[in-house]
Amino acid sequence: MNNKVIIIGCGNVGMSYAYALLNQRTNVGELVLIDLDRNRVEGEVMDLNHCLAFAPSKIDIKPGDYNDCKDAKIVVIAAGANQNPGETRMDLINKNSKIFKSIVTSVVKSGFQGIFLVATNPLDVMTYLTWKYSGFDTSKVIGSGTSLDTARLKYLVGEKLGVNPKNIHAYVVGEHGDSEFVPWSNVNVGLQNINSFLSKDELTEIHEEVKNAAYKIIDRKGATYYGIGMCLVRITNAILGDEDTIITVSSYDSKNDIYMGIPSILNKEGVKSRIYIELTKEEEEKLQHSVDIIKEAIDRIDYDR
Ligand code: NAD
Repeated sequence: MNNKVIIIGCGNVGMSYAYALLNQRTNVGELVLIDLDRNRVEGEVMDLNHCLAFAPSKIDIKPGDYNDCKDAKIVVIAAGANQNPGETRMDLINKNSKIFKSIVTSVVKSGFQGIFLVATNPLDVMTYLTWKYSGFDTSKVIGSGTSLDTARLKYLVGEKLGVNPKNIHAYVVGEHGDSEFVPWSNVNVGLQNINSFLSKDELTEIHEEVKNAAYKIIDRKGATYYGIGMCLVRITNAILGDEDTIITVSSYDSKNDIYMGIPSILNKEGVKSRIYIELTKEEEEKLQHSVDIIKEAIDRIDYDR
């Protein structure tokens, strides 16, 4: 089966995803790039195609338009403005919500029946808008959520303890933004809770580091993109490989009518289910805070309901 993936928005994030896809043995057979800047897309396609001689698998890569979405399995949206130094993700809401309506309706008009995967910030709000504008089932609309924050957390805990990040069982949950948090009561190194290894102050320091990672990177190099590129590949593989893998994507929370980062099971249907997390009272309050922030942001946008 020729698994076709479309990238809309071929800037730092879109192209880091494309390059990471090319460097991993995925089962993506066809990759189509769409951007307002058609010239850039042509250049990117040439550059990627020149990697094929040394790539682990063959991918058919070409520039495209919205008609190409018709028979795609996944449409990844990474179009729109990114944060300037000092800007929060929520500050992007007006710029990015405007372009999403035309992008999502154009994709749907093509006859697309696959899965939307959103990377644009403010992530949870843009994922919600994609769901609203598409009219798709909630399971078919996914945001990268706190997958990147979770990867950052695993790395930092692993570094501190000298353990491979893959053996750190931890999730960042909530908004992909300033109100995200780590439910430490659920974080394990191997089989043992993190509290056996690190003090409360050390955990707070790690949480701050995770939360502020994007700001620090943006201050130093203007944008963040490799990390999210890898997260998008991981999510793509979970979907195309029908993996039933748990990733903290932004998925639909029917109780609050929002999208938010929660460990969710992913397979070829999209989000199979969200995983219930046992939280302490303090963690429940933090989760509610994230819900309130996202809800308030959605209520502020002027979109056709
Ligand atoms: P960028 O400026 O490098 O690229 C954005 C691209 O979108 C540009 O090529 C632009 O031409 C294109 N674009 C704009 N409007 C478009 C439209 N209507 N149709 C098609 N293409 C359009 O930005 P970037 O650094 O790649 O960041 C993209 C988004 O990803 C930002 O919102 C950023 O905040 C977000 N981001 C998310 C995460 C995450 O964890 N989800 C991580 C990093 C960045």
